[in-house]
Amino acid sequence: MIDQQTIGRILDAADIVDVVGDFVTLKKRGVNYIGSCPFHNEKTPSFTVSPSKGICKCFGCGAGGNAINFIMELENMSYPEALKYLAHKYNIPIEERELSDDEKKEKSKLESLRIITEFAGKYFSNTLLNSEEGSAIGLSYFKERQINRATIDKFQLGYCPNSGSAFTDYAKKNGYKEELLIELGLSKKGQYSTFDFFKGRVIFPIHNLSGHVIAFGGRTLKTNKDTAKYFNSPESPLYHKSDVLYGIYQAKRSITSADKCYLVEGYTDVTSLHQAGIENVVASSGTALTVGQIRLIKRFTHNITILYDGDAAGIKAALKGIDLVLEQAMNVKVVLLPEGEDPDSFSKSQSHTDLMDYINSQEKDFIHFKSELLLKEAQNDPVKRAEATRSIVNSISKVPDTFLRTEYVRTTSIIMKVKEDILNNELRKKIHKIIERENKQQFNLPPTEVVTSSQKTPTYSEYGKDYFETIEAALLKYLIKYGSNNLEIENDIHEFETKTVAQYIFDELMIDEINFMNEIYADIFLIAFEQHRKTGKIEQDFFIKHSDPHISKMASDIIASKHEISELFSKQGVTVEKEDRKLSELIPNNIIIYKSRSLNKLSKEYEQKIKTLSEETDLDQIMEIQKKMILVKSALQKMSGLIHRVIP
Ligand code: ATP
Ligand code: MN
Repeated sequence: MIDQQTIGRILDAADIVDVVGDFVTLKKRGVNYIGSCPFHNEKTPSFTVSPSKGICKCFGCGAGGNAINFIMELENMSYPEALKYLAHKYNIPIEERELSDDEKKEKSKLESLRIITEFAGKYFSNTLLNSEEGSAIGLSYFKERQINRATIDKFQLGYCPNSGSAFTDYAKKNGYKEELLIELGLSKKGQYSTFDFFKGRVIFPIHNLSGHVIAFGGRTLKTNKDTAKYFNSPESPLYHKSDVLYGIYQAKRSITSADKCYLVEGYTDVTSLHQAGIENVVASSGTALTVGQIRLIKRFTHNITILYDGDAAGIKAALKGIDLVLEQAMNVKVVLLPEGEDPDSFSKSQSHTDLMDYINSQEKDFIHFKSELLLKEAQNDPVKRAEATRSIVNSISKVPDTFLRTEYVRTTSIIMKVKEDILNNELRKKIHKIIERENKQQFNLPPTEVVTSSQKTPTYSEYGKDYFETIEAALLKYLIKYGSNNLEIENDIHEFETKTVAQYIFDELMIDEINFMNEIYADIFLIAFEQHRKTGKIEQDFFIKHSDPHISKMASDIIASKHEISELFSKQGVTVEKEDRKLSELIPNNIIIYKSRSLNKLSKEYEQKIKTLSEETDLDQIMEIQKKMILVKSALQKMSGLIHRVIP
């Protein structure tokens, strides 16, 4: 562990322009510097570095933070790794704190697991390349499948001997504990002895983003149907299947530069496409596609093309994948290969040009893919056609972007020969259902409130958790950025008084015991409160240089954000001018909206609690909550007049 003092010294030394400048060509623009964002592909530079604040921010993709956040994100480093990187850059000696016994245990186990996995990867690779059995069996298998040496090296492919426990014995001889080998799924306890889980298989190591081996896939060389074709490592502290994609490490640069990611099903699909010159490709390998995996891709691009077999199973998987990708606000296209071909086999039967031509010409937007497919199935059956339309509308309803939805409705209307109005009606119903469901899950708000308080069809996030969090971020921004500014506030008896922004926000929110919904925001709020109580002021730098990287990152994001609050308010019909000039209006408005919605939610929660308690006839508790309820109701009463002033 690096001690706090050293962390402070590193942060003070780390000049943000200098740190970012190692990776991005920066040009001076006014008080800031600007360059091309290293996190996403862009034509006009929008990556801004503010030397005065010590932060950087991309207004295109949202990446950025202080110097440590930047290095962590760009180099996929952990917090201590990034600190060490910067310490090294600025010649700051690192004094590591002694770990407590518990910390040591926790750390040493994880580190042991890492070391063993790395050891196993080297062993398998070495066995493939340098042992007699490895080259006779493993290498000739890869040769037969036309996997060349460059690909073997790039993916660190390997082989596990067939003898039974060769690997396990060797690992134990090197001092690695059997229980850890078993936990990692490398060894398995049989009735009489412990044997190698992957024995007699060729090995596909699975790498994390920074290129470390975290798990393995092993393919059998037998052709009988009794053994599973692939074995995969089990879940472990190193390997969380649902957040991992095979090939992401080898693909990430190419995904960024192509601004697109191909998604395939298998290990060999990834390796063969690489060999055929397509490097922006990953596989979900063995698990159904998950949200975590899609989010991993989203760090590098917003465009996914699903590349699956043209058989029934491939089509089904593609249809499922589409909705998941859409829900993450990403663009999804589909390429189906000729029946009986997977990307591995197909890429081998084509020249690079033919392969690219096929992919480019067959690539279909999800709307075209889905509607053509379903129309073909439905033929002229009106019931089936209606079902097809409904299913497409269902997919469209998952798209969070209103404008995109409108485009998709237009396209569907043409393909399915259904009027746009009818599609829009159906869509509206679907979206309202989503809102209702989300509200029920999150706040127990009655659905009517959601529908009536906005004239337009609300997108389903408008009043969801996002809605609260947007205001929370805005309030924190005012708190951190303008905490010491003075505000002219109209009090209960219509007198004007002057308070600092910080004092006003604390007074308003603490009195009704309102807690922020977003946990990190809540932390920042409490830290700000403590700082204010101790020193009487709020200092922006204190947050940007905070030792917890979650907090420094979030604080930088909040301070750098330009848009969200004005967007939120223009949706409500309130015009917004430059925020620093209009603080006296903006802050009270935000507080009013936030408080009334929070109190509303609180009162619903109390009602629910009273209901539950009355079933258990716990009178004391009920009285207690009723008392709180009365306070909340009267606070709400007070708010109700104010909120009408804010939301017409
Ligand atoms: P190959 O070309 O080596 O025969 P493939 O990739 O074409 O393999 P598929 O049967 O199409 O194999 O399966 C696709 C992917 O699903 C595999 O690459 C593997 O990741 C996973 N998979 C297949 N069978 C299994 C299994 N029995 N257990 C776990 N995962 C499996
Ligand atoms: Mn195959």
